[in-house]
Amino acid sequence: MSDKYDVIVIGSGPAGYVAAIRCAQLGLKTACIEKWKDKSGKGINGGTCLNTGCIPSKALLDSSQKFHYAEVGFAGHGISTGKLQIDVPAMIKRKEAVVKQMSGGVAGLFQSNKVKSLYGTGKLLAGKKVEFTDNDGKTSTLEADNVILASGSVPVNIGVAPVDNEVIVDSTGALEFQAVPERLGVIGAGVIGLELGSVWGRLGAKVVLLEAMDNFLAMMDQQIAKEAHKIFTKQDLDIRLSCRVTGTEVKSKGKKKEVEVTYTDKDGNEQKETFDKLIVCVGRKPYTEGLLAEDSGVNLDERGFIYVNDLCSTDAPGVWAVGDVVRGPMLAHKGSEEGVMVAERIAGQKPLVNYDIIPNVIYTHPEVASVGKTEEQLKAEGEDYEVGTFPFMAVGRAVASDEAEGMVKIIAHAKTDRVLGAHIVGPSASDLVQQVAIAMEFGSSAEDIGMTVFGHPTFSEAVKEAALAVGGHAIHMP
Ligand code: FAD
Repeated sequence: MSDKYDVIVIGSGPAGYVAAIRCAQLGLKTACIEKWKDKSGKGINGGTCLNTGCIPSKALLDSSQKFHYAEVGFAGHGISTGKLQIDVPAMIKRKEAVVKQMSGGVAGLFQSNKVKSLYGTGKLLAGKKVEFTDNDGKTSTLEADNVILASGSVPVNIGVAPVDNEVIVDSTGALEFQAVPERLGVIGAGVIGLELGSVWGRLGAKVVLLEAMDNFLAMMDQQIAKEAHKIFTKQDLDIRLSCRVTGTEVKSKGKKKEVEVTYTDKDGNEQKETFDKLIVCVGRKPYTEGLLAEDSGVNLDERGFIYVNDLCSTDAPGVWAVGDVVRGPMLAHKGSEEGVMVAERIAGQKPLVNYDIIPNVIYTHPEVASVGKTEEQLKAEGEDYEVGTFPFMAVGRAVASDEAEGMVKIIAHAKTDRVLGAHIVGPSASDLVQQVAIAMEFGSSAEDIGMTVFGHPTFSEAVKEAALAVGGHAIHMP
C-alpha cells in the first residue's frame, strides 16, 4: 500500500474508529493512527471509551450491582445466600477481559472494512500531511486528501489533589483498585464521580462525594436531580454540596497510606476528612499534545478545544475534527455521530448531527437519563411548555421487579404539544430515554407518544403515562 490515503484518521476512540469505518464503507482508502498501548506495550484501539471509560466502568458497575443485589435484594424474594464475598482482583480481571474483547472487536472491524490500522503517533503537518512515528520510533510522512483529528480528552488534574496513582487517583486509577477501600473520597459528584462512587460503595466502601457546586447535577433537570439525590442518599452515598477542596496531604499510617482532605463546607467553615483512597473526578479536557505542527493551519479555541464549525471542519481546508477534542458534550455517541457525518461529507453527502437531541445517561442504579431541554432551560428561554410526570411506583412491572423508585418527566410545547425534553430517573432509564429521543427526532407530540400502544407490563409504560400526563390524563396516576 502506498502512503497516500483518501483519509487519515488520528485517534481510534469512538469518534475516530467510527469515522474510519464509515469512510472505508464509502469506498475511501483510509488509515487510522492510534498511539494507545495495552499493559504489554501492544498497540490497542478504542480510546478512552473502550479502555478506561464507558466499557470498563459499566463492567464494574454491573459486577458491583450483582453483589449489592445479592447482599440486600435477594431476601425479599425468599432467596437466601451464604456469607457473600467479593474477589476484587477477579472482578478487575473480568473487566480487563471485557475491554480486550471490545478493543479487539475494533481491530476486527478495521480488518473487515479494510481500514489500515497504524499503531503509533500522528502529527498533522501543513498541507494535510501527517507525520507518523510508529511504536519503534520510526518516522514517515503520510499524505491524505482529508485528515480527521479525533484525539479525545484526558482527565483534568487539580493542584490541590495531585494524582499519585497510589492514594490519589483519577477515573482510570479508580478502575484498577485491587481491594475495596474502607473510606473512599471522591472530588466531584458529576457523572463519572457518581458512577465510580457507586461501584465501590456497593462493595462496602464508605463513600463521601465532595462537590463544589451548590446544585446537585446542575446540568440536569432539577426535579429529576432532586429525586436522584434522595435515592442516592438512601444508598449511603454521602453527597456534600457547596464543598470546595483546598488541600490534600498523603500520610503514612503503619504500612498503609491515607489522605487527609481539607475542604471548605457550605457555611464557609474549614473541614478535614481522611480517606484510604481519593478519586479526582472534576472533568475532562481536550487532548492535543503533540498533535499539531505550528503551521498545520488548525486553531484551538480559548478552552483548548480544536476550533470547528457545525460540520466539524477546522480552519485548515480538508482537515476535520470530531469527538471530545471539539466543543459539545463529551460523550462517546456524540463523537461517533460526528465521525459518521464527516465521513459522509467527505464522500459528498450532506448529513448533519442533530445536537439538540443527544441523550445523556448516568449509569447509577437506578439510572438517570435525559434528552432535550430541561425545565430550567425552557424557563430561561421564556418558552411556553407543559410538563407530565409519572412515578415508577405506579408501574406494575417496576413494582414486580423491585425497581419502583424514580419517575419519568416529559416536557412538551404548550401550544404545539411537540416534545421538547424527557428526563428520567428509574429502571432502564438509559433505554427508555431513547424511545423519547426517537419520537423527538421525528417531531412527535406528547399525544403521539400517549397514543402509541406500549407492551404491558413494561417499564416503558411510565413513558406513555408521562406523555399522557402532559395533557392531564394519565390513566394510572396515583
Ligand atoms: P477518546 O476515546 O479519548 O480517543 C482518542 C484516542 O486518540 C485515544 O485512543 C488516544 O490514544 C488517541 N490519540 C490522541 N492523540 C493521538 C496522536 N497524536 N496520535 C495517535 N493517537 C492519538 N461516554 C459515554 O457516552 N457514555 C458513558 O457511559 C461514558 N462513561 C465514561 C466513563 C469514564 C470513567 C470516562 C473517563 C469517560 C466516559 N465517557 C462516557 C466519555 C467517553 O469515554 C468519551 O466521550 C469518548 O471516549 C470520546 O471519544 P473520542 O473518540 O473523542 O476520544
